Amino acid sequence: MIPYGRQRISAADIEAVVKALQSPLITQGPRVAAFEQAIADYCQAPYGVALSSATAALHVACLTLNVGPGDLVWTVPNTFVASANCARYCGAEIDFVDIDPTTGNLCVQALATKLGHAQQTGRLPKVLIPVHFGGASCDMQAIAALTKPLGIYIIEDASHAIGGRYQNLPVGACTYSDFTVFSFHPVKIITTGEGGVLTTRNQALAERAQELRSHGITRDPKLMEAEHPEPWYYEQRELGFNYRMTDIQAALGLSQLSQLDTFVATRNELASQYRAAFSNTKVAFLQVPEQLYSSYHLFVIQVPAALRLQLFNDLRAANIGVHVHYIPVHWQPDFRNLGFVRGQFPQSELYYNQAITLPLYVDLSASEQEHIINTLLALAKHWE
Ligand SMILES: *Cc1c(COP(=O)(O)O)cnc(C)c1O
Repeated sequence: MIPYGRQRISAADIEAVVKALQSPLITQGPRVAAFEQAIADYCQAPYGVALSSATAALHVACLTLNVGPGDLVWTVPNTFVASANCARYCGAEIDFVDIDPTTGNLCVQALATKLGHAQQTGRLPKVLIPVHFGGASCDMQAIAALTKPLGIYIIEDASHAIGGRYQNLPVGACTYSDFTVFSFHPVKIITTGEGGVLTTRNQALAERAQELRSHGITRDPKLMEAEHPEPWYYEQRELGFNYRMTDIQAALGLSQLSQLDTFVATRNELASQYRAAFSNTKVAFLQVPEQLYSSYHLFVIQVPAALRLQLFNDLRAANIGVHVHYIPVHWQPDFRNLGFVRGQFPQSELYYNQAITLPLYVDLSASEQEHIINTLLALAKHWE
């Protein structure tokens, strides 16, 4: 079965990991700091903090912004559950902004409308988490123009989008946000096995994130309550976690990062093959605004809702490992238990009912892609 996504691990990646394993420190060593610096440099942001996953990064980002009980966090329904769960870990309430079904991203008009209502009822969110669906940045300038004047923080969930660009800057530069979060799960653009990094322009937020990922502990005498700390002394300043990345993972991440631009270029070439094959056919696909550079984590087609299940099964039967991104988060039983109902975010639901994700990854061969395109076009011939 051709998978919908998978990592590419090179001989150089393996060598880097072996070297890390042979060095004295396999966690909390020099490679984590080097990886953080390399990501920050790549993104043109001053600070990077590595964590055990993007989920951990989203949680820590919320905590550094003091999200807690009584607070409200907004994200979109068209995302992985982690974008919403981070608020709930903090005891905050979650709500959603509907999407633009032509891009899969947050709809700026829906945000403006919802903010208007929230101002009237006095229930503004503390944080907004836009998700760069499939690797294409949301319209961050327009989003920030609405949220900044109201004092709302922004965490970009860029789990799909490392290597992408917005307004000619790398996603992660945090021009319009407080944090950007990346995921290095193996299906994403580059991998560390499990892992995530957050970038920020704010030194105090970066330092607090570093502390929270390691039990809330500091070893910096300047930050301690004790006036003359002994050399072995450390202080837990607040309740933190073990959300650390290992040096083994960071070694893989550093090696993968050196290939990021070629990975993303290859993904863009594969995506343009799909676009060329499907234009002027019955197979519709998500639009990426022209001024953007997408990292193309996903290539999503839109098919008649009534035919989606059959088409999914037919493609799987042809050894094509299609997938669906995403079941609207508010449809999950654990979210319906919070009071969300079907029909509440109609554009996300309309989009979802028509969505199929086609295989897209660096090692997808020309003949495999041809098989996918030909199979799909043959099936689409029979659509009304
Ligand atoms: C993958 C993903 C996450 C979670 O990433 P992990 O590194 O697996 O924790 C969060 N948000 C989105 C949009 C994702 O795709």
